Amino acid sequence: MTTYVYSFERGDGKNKMLLGGKGANLAEMTQIGLNVPPGFTITTEACLAYLEHDALPDGVMDEVRTAMCELEEKTGRGFGSKTNPLLVSVRSGSAMSMPGMMDTILNLGLNAETLEGLIHQTDNPRFGYDAWRRFIQLYGKIALGVPDELFDEAMNELKQKVGAKQDVDLTGPQLKELAQSYVGIVEKHTGHPFPTDPMQQLEMAIAAVFRSWMGKRAVDYRRQFKITPEMANGTAVNVCTMVFGNMGNDSATGVGFTRNPATGENVIFGEYLTNAQGEDVVAGIRTPKPIAEMALEMPRLHAELMDLRNKLERHYKEIQDFEFTIEKGRLYALQTRNGKMNARAMVVTSVEMANEGVITREQALLRANPALLEQLMVPTLAPGSNAVSLATGLPASPGAASGRVVFDADTAEARGKLGEKIILVREETKPEDIHGFFAAEGILTARGGKTSHAAVVARGMGKPCVSGCAAIQIDVHARKARVGEAEFVEGDVITIDGTTGKVYAGRIPTVEAEFFGELQTLLEWADEAATLKVRANADTPNDAARAKRFGAVGIGLCRTERMFNDPGRLPVVQEMILADTPEERQSALDRLLPFQREDFKGIFRAMAGLPVTVRLLDPPIHEFLPTASQLEFEIDHLRNLKRAVRGMNELPETLRMLDPELHHAYVDSLDHLNANLVEYEHQHRFDALISRREAMLRKVHALHEVNPMLGHRGVRLGLTNPEIYTMQIRALFEAAAGCMREGVTVNAEIMVPQVCTREELVRVKAIFDTELDRVTALLGERPHVRFGTMIEVVRACMRAGSLAQIAEFFSFGTNDLTQATFSFSREDAENKFLPFYQETKILRENPFEVLDVKGVGRLMQMAVQWGREVRPDLKVGICGEQGGQPDSVRFCHAIGLDYVSCSAPRVPIARLAAAQAKLREKEYSTTVFD
Ligand code: ADP
Ligand code: MG
Ligand code: MG
Repeated sequence: MTTYVYSFERGDGKNKMLLGGKGANLAEMTQIGLNVPPGFTITTEACLAYLEHDALPDGVMDEVRTAMCELEEKTGRGFGSKTNPLLVSVRSGSAMSMPGMMDTILNLGLNAETLEGLIHQTDNPRFGYDAWRRFIQLYGKIALGVPDELFDEAMNELKQKVGAKQDVDLTGPQLKELAQSYVGIVEKHTGHPFPTDPMQQLEMAIAAVFRSWMGKRAVDYRRQFKITPEMANGTAVNVCTMVFGNMGNDSATGVGFTRNPATGENVIFGEYLTNAQGEDVVAGIRTPKPIAEMALEMPRLHAELMDLRNKLERHYKEIQDFEFTIEKGRLYALQTRNGKMNARAMVVTSVEMANEGVITREQALLRANPALLEQLMVPTLAPGSNAVSLATGLPASPGAASGRVVFDADTAEARGKLGEKIILVREETKPEDIHGFFAAEGILTARGGKTSHAAVVARGMGKPCVSGCAAIQIDVHARKARVGEAEFVEGDVITIDGTTGKVYAGRIPTVEAEFFGELQTLLEWADEAATLKVRANADTPNDAARAKRFGAVGIGLCRTERMFNDPGRLPVVQEMILADTPEERQSALDRLLPFQREDFKGIFRAMAGLPVTVRLLDPPIHEFLPTASQLEFEIDHLRNLKRAVRGMNELPETLRMLDPELHHAYVDSLDHLNANLVEYEHQHRFDALISRREAMLRKVHALHEVNPMLGHRGVRLGLTNPEIYTMQIRALFEAAAGCMREGVTVNAEIMVPQVCTREELVRVKAIFDTELDRVTALLGERPHVRFGTMIEVVRACMRAGSLAQIAEFFSFGTNDLTQATFSFSREDAENKFLPFYQETKILRENPFEVLDVKGVGRLMQMAVQWGREVRPDLKVGICGEQGGQPDSVRFCHAIGLDYVSCSAPRVPIARLAAAQAKLREKEYSTTVFD
């Protein structure tokens, strides 16, 4: 017989799949002696069975009744008792934390009779009616499907009628009246009397919580955060004895983090509200007080809370996010889980906890998800912008963002889809707003603390949030908000700074974040632990310098075509392409050479002895010419204008009048014309402009390819037009020799793109050798430059052994290799069918973002093996985009690559991922290809 129910004393604190995170930790906390109200957990297995059969499985309610009897014994109260009633909460909780996505019902077990008992027992009618109205609302909403607004409206009506600002201003009799109207609302909406039998209430509540697993909110959340059934399958239900934070001013409820989850600072961080129950703190009903204040208000309890905090952290060896309630001076722990924190806090606490000896350095390195580090690149407001803030709220989630004000989640989603940048501005947020968070750049709320729903969710997503900004008055219906003097309508732009809590009108420039000490330390530890090196892709000296700041130990890919595309050089490149004679072509190349040489020198200087891998020209040559339609358009216009200006003197003015579009096409040439030129010169000038474009057009037609990505490019172009590679190789050697003379150490590598046969490499190597000798003879320095190949063609993988006879290194170009392996052209795939493939799970991931281990990875693994059989010291790296993706980094480590190369901002991610790959090496399964 399956056991479906475990008391907190008996549950296995490690088994989150079965008990859910909340249930497992309630068991764990109970078992290490913390003060948890007695209770029990109904397993996720029961949930799955319920969802499958639409009925609770046999025996569950029997076990629940037995467990309730035990609770009655432990608490000395009776479930349904008129004199000493036991009340419980019925709480959801799955293996993965999904804050606010599922439901919890408080104060269950109340009916007219137990309510009398509760009032009698506590001698506090106001408290009794408060608990009663909360129960009816939660139960009505969750178990019976009554819309929340109906209750909110009744509450607001009553508040207005009696002139109360907050719910705490309502008196006992007023709350009684409210509860009665709530009962009316439920009965009217459902057409049935409100259920009075506590056991029936319990059974329906359990079923409702199980159903909330499949509620829209929860399903959306799982999809967004890619929570699969292997990670969390079903929710457990926790039935927990109620303790009351709303029994008066010696009672309170609160939430805390053992350390500050925004900065990582080793100081308890949290908020509490006196005389309040559960949800009040997170729902932002009143703005709560920081825990520091408790030291003055209730010093003994503050000390107990510190003790609880220390015990939690020492036991879990991880920052905890916990809930507590104080009932008449007694502190209870209601929940704990590992704290979600932003990347900065993750890094700071990792380093500090390792230094404090709470965890080891290895644990510190394994603790952070490398992808999180991307958050550290969050922008902050540019210093010296001197903008004056309109209002200040709480700094709830760091980072600065600008965007258009939107007042509800649906509009945010709709406008976000159109590519607009949105700031979601709400009175307070609720879990139903989650899709608005996804669409927004940042979130601004008028109410709620640093642990409000808005703050917690935004931090989890790494989005800026300012909460509790009381100066904002929102009129959702008029789609307007007033902030002090300023008024905003929907669509106006504002900037929020979640690091300071300030709100500004308009768009304020932002800057990228800088490396801070703890990040530096953690990444140094990572470099010590890792064997896989991290290089960066960089095309200019500036990029190279930035890559080095991010900790790259070399340039894995320096694309020379970027240098060709520079506006100052493009005309020379075009001249080379258009040249009719070898002499003309050589003359253009001779002019390009010094440019390339200086580019290379700049990069060598920036990298100062670190390896720099230069790729010879790769793209098809027509990419440096305008498109045919652009040329046709220009030729047409020039012909028309030539006709129109015949006989006119005031040429430039006339032209501008005739056609402002002209500006775009050739205003540069016109500016050189003198207004007093005689007519025939105009005509001559036009003829020159036109014939140059006609020549280009002929060339464009001649170069036209059906499938340029598979066409005349890379080494194919290099060998049919050897003077281009010759120039590039010569420029590189001259740059290297020049730098050596300056005393700069050079560690350069040349690699050939698109190679598929050994013979191609042999031919380029011949140019390489000739030029090396020539430059050595000329400059008296013999630079040491390695010669290698890109591996980005399937055939190159299959012929890796023979390529390794010539190549000293391989660099996997996994963008092209992925295209070739799948026969997907990337743009077509991503625009047309990949989203469908991913949604319908034909493919799990986009293979252009996450390396396809089974196919592309298998090719890589074979190529490495075959290459090293021929050349044991063959150096191998990857320079595709996947090189900065943690799972791909792990794979690259596993197949023995020497380095990964990625864009500069991803270098920190790859460094940490490389360390983790090494530390988790043993866990890596050899079945990845199955
Ligand atoms: P969530 O997962 O959304 O946080 P919880 O199950 O933790 O939902 O409950 C919601 C709120 O109710 C929390 O603030 C919690 O502390 C409070 N709560 C839950 N059970 C009890 C209880 N037995 N006594 C007092 N407060 C409770
Ligand atoms: Mg909770
Ligand atoms: Mg390529």
